[in-house]
Amino acid sequence: MGHNRAVPVLHEETMDLSNGVAQTIYPIPETTMSEFIPNAQSFWNAIAPHTQQRLLENVWCAHCREQTTIVDFSGRIERGNLLLLGRCATCGGNVARVIEGPDA
Ligand SMILES: [Zn+2]
Repeated sequence: MGHNRAVPVLHEETMDLSNGVAQTIYPIPETTMSEFIPNAQSFWNAIAPHTQQRLLENVWCAHCREQTTIVDFSGRIERGNLLLLGRCATCGGNVARVIEGPDA
């Protein structure tokens, strides 16, 4: 086994943070929703907060066979409606809720 000197690799450029240039790039900005695509986010934001709350607490769970609260949900637009996909706060099972668009 001889000396196998490591070739210096120039990967320092990716670590510019040391001189105060904290320009970190986050490809996906944090939102209140876990996985809202932009369209779904603006759809959701257009709903009054108290209505949002009512919608989230008024989701049918097939496992519990009663109304439940949807948690850990994400949203996407389907045919002009907002589709919320998440989990039941009670049993953790998958639940979904469709919220009709204002033009529907
Ligand atoms: Zn449930």
